Amino acid sequence: MTSADTIAAIASASGAAGVGVLRVSGPAVPGIAHELLGRDPDPRHAHFAAFRESDGELIDRGLLLYFPAPASYTGEHVLELQGHGSPVLLDALLRRICNMGARLARPGEFTERAFLNGKLDLAQAEAVADLIAARSQAGARAALRSMEGVFSYKVYELLQSLVALRVHIEAAIDFPEEEIDFLADPLITQQLDALRVQLAALLCEAQRGVRLNDGLRVAIIGRPNAGKSSLLNALAGSDRAIVTDIAGTTRDVLREQLHLDGVALELADTAGLRETDDPVEQEGVRRARGELARADMALLVTDADHVEFDLVLLADLPASVERLVLINKIDLEHVGARYETRPDGVWVWASAKTGEGLNALREHLRQVAGAGSGEGAFSARRRHVLALEQVTVHLEQADQVLRATRAGELAAEELRQAQHALGEITGTYTSDDLLGAIFSSFCIGK
Ligand code: GDP
Repeated sequence: MTSADTIAAIASASGAAGVGVLRVSGPAVPGIAHELLGRDPDPRHAHFAAFRESDGELIDRGLLLYFPAPASYTGEHVLELQGHGSPVLLDALLRRICNMGARLARPGEFTERAFLNGKLDLAQAEAVADLIAARSQAGARAALRSMEGVFSYKVYELLQSLVALRVHIEAAIDFPEEEIDFLADPLITQQLDALRVQLAALLCEAQRGVRLNDGLRVAIIGRPNAGKSSLLNALAGSDRAIVTDIAGTTRDVLREQLHLDGVALELADTAGLRETDDPVEQEGVRRARGELARADMALLVTDADHVEFDLVLLADLPASVERLVLINKIDLEHVGARYETRPDGVWVWASAKTGEGLNALREHLRQVAGAGSGEGAFSARRRHVLALEQVTVHLEQADQVLRATRAGELAAEELRQAQHALGEITGTYTSDDLLGAIFSSFCIGK
């Protein structure tokens, strides 16, 4: 696919800088390059050029690089101009390029063209934006791996197994007299089981990928005065939340972004989840429940006297939410800091006031956020996780109908839908709305 029009944008960040980069892509590029340089440029060669207005007046001097199609970022002819990083000069140069037949690029349009030309798939294209926006080293490394196709490759592997199984089942449907025998073949259920194991592993990795990308979302919960704000302040290293000893101070949800050794964390301090008649506090409680519903982890702050009672707050959480119990105020109890893994989550004994025991808590947060995920960890987005969850549901249903009724057609249909959901991750199946939503969040010039 080659676009009819040529796009141009300033690719470097706005504001004054040492060097500014302008990028052009499309069919008019060879002509523009020729006019700027006074001759045809050599492919992939850095030319030192004088960039001039049409009347010959000098705009700037800099480097001109030409990447002929298809060996370029977008798959089209691409021109990159590097000049002085002055917004005024770059604007003038951009105007000049547009006068030669280019138009201004929309956000993400270069990467969108790369996707449409098969240079990268959709998950890789999204990773480009995630790489640029990465807020931590671990996040950037993970986004780089996704951009290089680590995640996509795993999706394709899963897709291959899925298609093999689908072919197997559809073959059985095509020979109805043999269908029952065919579908009773243990090979089919074995294949399906293996597929589900493969899928569960990928879903787990993708969930970790989202945390690496977005940061771990921790909702701090607990009764008023448990020490939630103090904990937030101790972790953030500032007096972000208001700490008082009047019950019910924190009525709104405060957010704090933290970086712990290269991992982004988002802490949300919520009002205590107690039942209350105060309408303002009721609103705080409502938000606290909302916060829990979208969190990766619930961090219950309590103390030795209240822990048994407060565990109720963790009772109704979905299984996917990690649980961490902080027994705070150990300085008052004169007990030492401790860390224990229990069936209902990890328990940490610490003091938000003295800081004792908080390192163990920090380290645990770091681990859950994916810091220790090491080689091979890739970034992902929530939409990918949702797609993998859909695949999970379809495979479960395929499994049920196969075991219960041996209805080949129904199982095949579930597999077809599972395949469709997988294809949405890599962009085999997309809608204009989805592409619009994804690429419009990019920066201009990318
Ligand atoms: P929140 O309502 O859960 O946010 O609780 P705060 O952080 O406002 O703390 C309530 C009171 O407990 C304040 O007076 C804090 O100074 C005190 N506090 C918090 N953590 C500790 C701790 O570890 N030890 C002691 N001794 N006091 C604490």
